[in-house]
Amino acid sequence: MQTSEQATNETVQQAWGKRPLIISGPCSAETEEQLVATAQRLAATGRVDMLRAGIWKPRTKPGMFEGVGAKGLPWLQQAKKLTGLPTTVEVATGKQVQDALTFDVDVLWIGARTTVNPFSVQEVADALRGTNVPVMIKNPINPDLELWAGAVERIARAGVKQIGLIHRGFSSYGNTEFRNAPMWHLAIEMKLKYPHLVFINDPSHICGRRDILLDTMQKAIDLDYDGLMIESHIDPDNAWSDAKQQVTPERLAEMLDTIIWRKEDISSEEYHAALEKLRQQINQLDDELMQILSQRMKIAEQIGTYKKENNITILQTNRWNEIIERATAKGDKIGLSKEFITKYFDAVHMESINHQKKVLDS
Ligand code: PEP
Ligand code: MN
Repeated sequence: MQTSEQATNETVQQAWGKRPLIISGPCSAETEEQLVATAQRLAATGRVDMLRAGIWKPRTKPGMFEGVGAKGLPWLQQAKKLTGLPTTVEVATGKQVQDALTFDVDVLWIGARTTVNPFSVQEVADALRGTNVPVMIKNPINPDLELWAGAVERIARAGVKQIGLIHRGFSSYGNTEFRNAPMWHLAIEMKLKYPHLVFINDPSHICGRRDILLDTMQKAIDLDYDGLMIESHIDPDNAWSDAKQQVTPERLAEMLDTIIWRKEDISSEEYHAALEKLRQQINQLDDELMQILSQRMKIAEQIGTYKKENNITILQTNRWNEIIERATAKGDKIGLSKEFITKYFDAVHMESINHQKKVLDS
């Protein structure tokens, strides 16, 4: 007993340390046959390091399939026995942690709907105290990095040494291309904050559909993620949950073959990954700049209203000279040239005048 447990531990450690770390399996364990067959077909591809399956499924609405519950845990044990793949399941309560560990689940993960709730995360953390199981934490459904970081801290304080982050995208209202908007810049910020945690992308829940999975997987690899968690099923169309996004084990292997793997030791590949990261940051800052400019124009419109009420001209040369002087002096201190500042503020001023003119003409 002791030796087989140790052997399992070693397999888990090997899997956890592997790059890229590929985790796959059904959204939900449905029957023992389905789970074991999925595991065997995944193992046969030779491309997968860990078997995932949802046992307890937090669903948006009641009446949907909520997972088979603890009776599925022996199925995972059986799948591991037959394939040698370490297993991982989602846990949301202290009892689920205990049940999963009783049935030798090797790695646990906290789902997006649990990460949002500090009480639940704390309950899971308390149940983990004294164990040495690796834990992966999905991003919360809302784009709140502090909440995600808070969950990491709660789990770390419980003494968990091996922590992973799973980026599964963020809920957004209305239809977008993605089921959950990836908001890559937020994930990158999290990765920069916790560079030593295993950083995994979950393209299945980001995409919610098969046709854009591969692009998202490639993007994650380009952005230097440590691994991927992808849902797979022996009969995706008839899956009991998340049917649209699951792929067969063979299709998964095909996609993994298609991906261009960015190697760490080829400097030009490293260069592209780094470049992409920086470009994401630039995009983010540009978005923020535009938001701020839009706010500035709204204030200019308010000034326009006062000017209209008091019958004052839009252009006030003194005020404008004061703005330029202030900006060029400040720009000089922070490395922005006088030429750039003047051009930039001229453009901003023109736009501001146009906004005010609209108010005066209304
Ligand atoms: C899942 O992995 O099947 C799942 C429920 O994911 P999430 O917590 O990201 O919604
Ligand atoms: Mn799912």
